Amino acid sequence: MKVSEMLAPTLREVPAEAEVISHQLLLKAGLIRKSAAGVYNLLPLAWRVVRKIEQIIREEMDRQGGQELMLPILQSAELWRESGRWDVYGAELFRLKDRHGRDFCLGPTHEEIITALVKGEVNSYKQLPLLLYQMQNKYRDERRPRFGLLRGREFIMKDLYSFDYDQAGLDVTYNKMYEAYYNVFTRCGLNFRAVVADSGAIGGKDTHEFMVLAESGEANVLYCADQACGYAVNDERAEALAAGPREDGPVLATEKIHTPDCRTVAEVAAFLKTSPERIIKTILYSTEKETVAALVRGDREINEVKLYNILGCVRLEQAAPETILAVTGARTGFAGPVGLKGVRVVADQEVMVLTNAVCGANEDEQHLINVNPGRDFAPALITDIRLVKAGEPCPDCGATLLEARGIEVGQIFKLGDKYSKAMNATFLDEKGQARFFIMGCYGIGVTRTMAAAVEQNYDERGIIWPVQIAPYQVAVMPVNHKDERQFAAAEHIYRQLIEAGVEAVFDDRPERAGVKFKDADLVGYPLRVTVGDKGLAVSQVELVVRRTGAMNMIPLDGVVEAVQTALNSLA
Ligand code: ATP
Ligand code: MG
Repeated sequence: MKVSEMLAPTLREVPAEAEVISHQLLLKAGLIRKSAAGVYNLLPLAWRVVRKIEQIIREEMDRQGGQELMLPILQSAELWRESGRWDVYGAELFRLKDRHGRDFCLGPTHEEIITALVKGEVNSYKQLPLLLYQMQNKYRDERRPRFGLLRGREFIMKDLYSFDYDQAGLDVTYNKMYEAYYNVFTRCGLNFRAVVADSGAIGGKDTHEFMVLAESGEANVLYCADQACGYAVNDERAEALAAGPREDGPVLATEKIHTPDCRTVAEVAAFLKTSPERIIKTILYSTEKETVAALVRGDREINEVKLYNILGCVRLEQAAPETILAVTGARTGFAGPVGLKGVRVVADQEVMVLTNAVCGANEDEQHLINVNPGRDFAPALITDIRLVKAGEPCPDCGATLLEARGIEVGQIFKLGDKYSKAMNATFLDEKGQARFFIMGCYGIGVTRTMAAAVEQNYDERGIIWPVQIAPYQVAVMPVNHKDERQFAAAEHIYRQLIEAGVEAVFDDRPERAGVKFKDADLVGYPLRVTVGDKGLAVSQVELVVRRTGAMNMIPLDGVVEAVQTALNSLA
């Protein structure tokens, strides 16, 4: 490819809305352009990266017995009603009607379509296990599309669905997919962790997320400081250790104290000369059914994912000030579990071992001291609803937990019979009896993986593509395009490289050397070959490694070998 003919429009300035580095650099280097919020054009360089990632995925899926197919994006609401997700999926689902007024949606994921397909076409246990996958656009009307390709409303996903005879079969398939994912992200040159995750709205139990570690990640990963232990978990899912024994000491009589202007835990603790650990923090939530009071120790935070799962609700949000006033009789900041009526109280286990604690009195500017759980209030539910944080002990080995931000690039789930049961998808076993397919689903965000690779591989000059997924491997250029000898030598090297199967571009533009170097660094080609006067005089050219900046003179007649050696050492 000649750079003069390439559609790779670089930018000097990037729009302010590009907050994260991958968004900035993909725009700047001319790989993507926004079409609408969360919807992007993938320009030729980006499309090459996408196709490389897809090819790595394809090879690893096929290696585990996956078969590629293509399913419709346009999906009838009928199927979604069968699975029950039409009503549950909410505003994220792009819904539309056809000319007859029938409901459709654009696929955010394909469990319904594939279950219906397999239900119709697969009848016998002899046809199992079956692993089917596709790579195509997905549509999700995200609440906050942002960070460029990291959270789009249209994005490319690889989704594989597995159909097994039983749970044991699913376990085997799941492990194969775990291995495949491990290989995919390793081959993409990424620093990642497989973490135990929450299964969220999709349902099912066992699940791992594959997280690329990067500052801009939206997830918080907790992992054990002891590498040999290997414990890693999405903090949404991190289980707290059991609470210790109940605190000793005489149980005192509850008193109400005037606490003017004390609304936050810190303010109350300072005013009452106590510590946040001794305060019961009460947060009110609204679900579609009820109001719930969630209690955690003042120094802790509520894990809303845990709470959501425990309550089994569809919608969970912090209660509005009006609701808080109606339920507690007080303004926000003075709620407490004592005497609270008409709401379900869910307490974190740690709250229950406190003695003579502090909480809101459900009256403006008033708190209670010497509150004793059990004596003064009885929660409907006592369980683990708090967020676990770095610094706490690892539940597996007791070493310290560390934390890092993670970008979820893939997730694998054991679905079991959730969809096959809802959609009555069965096969006949060896006795001729109908059984539900035992399913798994496995997604990789292809476009998100491309962006995540940039989040991990860049410097102040631009992108540094891992060689395995770089749009091209080498950029060749003359220092002075007006110098015919230099130009011809560079073009010759370019042609030799192409012939040898190296993916090369030739920067033939009538630009100053500085401009060409800058663009090559910005786009992030792993190698650059520069033909200059001084080198040519001694039959040498310059080979520069983008990642390290290492610069070497190599003989003119050995460029192909030198480039291949350098590429191998980078892979
Ligand atoms: P998230 O929690 O980030 O919203 P998710 O858990 O909803 O993602 P899955 O349903 O597991 O995502 O989808 C499989 C993969 O698709 C994800 O691991 C991610 O890589 C990718 N993906 C999901 N949503 C988006 C999006 N809005 N933009 C780009 N990629 C996405
Ligand atoms: Mg997920």
